[in-house]
Amino acid sequence: MARDAEVLIAGGGLIGPLLGLALDRAGISSLVLDAAPPAGADRGLDGRAYALSRGSVRYLQALGLWDRLAAGAQPICGVRVGDGRAGEGASPLTLSLDDHDLGEGPLGYMVEDRHLRPLLAESLGGRLHSRAQVTSHQAGPGQVSVTLASAAKLTGQLLVAADGRASGVARRAGIGRVVKDYGQTALVAAIAHEQPHGGLAHQLFLPSGPLAILPLPGNRASVVWTENTARAAELEAMDDAGFIAALRPVFGRFLGAIALAGARWSYPLGLSLAQSLTGPRLVLAGDAAHGLHPLAGQGLNLGFRDVAALAETLAGAVRLGRDPGDAMVLASYARWRHADIAALAAATDGINALFSNDDPALRLLRDAGLGLADRIPVLRRSLIREAAGLAGDLPVAMR
Ligand SMILES: Cc1cc2nc3c(=O)[nH]c(=O)nc-3n(C[C@H](O)[C@H](O)[C@H](O)COP(=O)(O)OP(=O)(O)OC[C@H]3O[C@@H](n4cnc5c(N)ncnc54)[C@H](O)[C@@H]3O)c2cc1C
Repeated sequence: MARDAEVLIAGGGLIGPLLGLALDRAGISSLVLDAAPPAGADRGLDGRAYALSRGSVRYLQALGLWDRLAAGAQPICGVRVGDGRAGEGASPLTLSLDDHDLGEGPLGYMVEDRHLRPLLAESLGGRLHSRAQVTSHQAGPGQVSVTLASAAKLTGQLLVAADGRASGVARRAGIGRVVKDYGQTALVAAIAHEQPHGGLAHQLFLPSGPLAILPLPGNRASVVWTENTARAAELEAMDDAGFIAALRPVFGRFLGAIALAGARWSYPLGLSLAQSLTGPRLVLAGDAAHGLHPLAGQGLNLGFRDVAALAETLAGAVRLGRDPGDAMVLASYARWRHADIAALAAATDGINALFSNDDPALRLLRDAGLGLADRIPVLRRSLIREAAGLAGDLPVAMR
């Protein structure tokens, strides 16, 4: 039967193109369809960056992409987690995770969006179709067809929904979602600072939400400042000088003077979890499957593990001459991914509830927890392996 590709991927953010490249390496043809216009080349420092775990970096290495990212990536040598109040700094009980505890090099790398996104798009070449909004799909015997806003039709054997946390593809397939509004907004900005950061990432839990200070090359950091929605709207409305003045007491003085080094962004935060990872000739991956709170910097890493598991599952099926859209093949992907997704969704949701308040009893409990985790070597080591993305049932290319 004539078809446009074996796999059609709806969504050309980060996960869709990564999957397209992974399938390409496995000899499976795909087309990535994205509603938005092309991303364009490197846009200059803008502060949006991802903490990629060791597991994700290994995957980019396996796909032959890491060499082109390495020069602009910042190794994460350690993480400091503390519980604090604005202007008071962290409580004395903090959790420190260091790369020497792992003994295998950095815990991960900070990679800027302006480097990662264009690299994925460029590597996919003509297989990434921009301004190609998927408006409907229909699964039938042996194939799935997709209709675009332009009325063009494409056919394949499997459709992957990688169209983000509000996945229209999943909704139209009747897949329900668990949705929770956190009443918080993450404000993201690039900050230049006076003192070197030494490759350390800081996560300070404040009553209104966490503040992450993530190291970038040079004396620069990507700041992810979570505030309740009303306060975030006030901060957003401020001019740059007002914003920096408001950030100053929250940021602390440990890196010396600070200044804004790029644009400012804001992201309303919520949990958006699909109730099923599969439908007829359909699978979900990335935020379409699981939109999480960014407090642990793990959402994209989780999506990388979806991609690696899906590519490995489909490659195994195709090698045996099976149809990649077969329900049994898709069910094995869903079984593989279920525990990892559920555990991270529960962890990020639970940590946000435990830390984003000023309740004295909870403060005592979480400080004791951080102190304990810091002092028990087995617990520290397992936390480090989790943070580095080296724990659990990993796809071969990430081990
Ligand atoms: C503030 C913040 C900080 C974060 N930091 C980290 C971090 O440090 N580490 C980490 O691992 N993760 C982090 N994350 C999470 C990470 O950004 C997301 O998990 C990741 O970007 C999801 O990628 P995606 O491709 O699945 O979805 P998206 O990036 O949402 O892409 C979806 C794509 O689908 C397209 N689309 C939508 N509808 C259609 C349609 N009908 N047809 C065709 N295309 C369509 C859209 O145009 C878009 O390009 C952070 C998130 C936030 C908000």
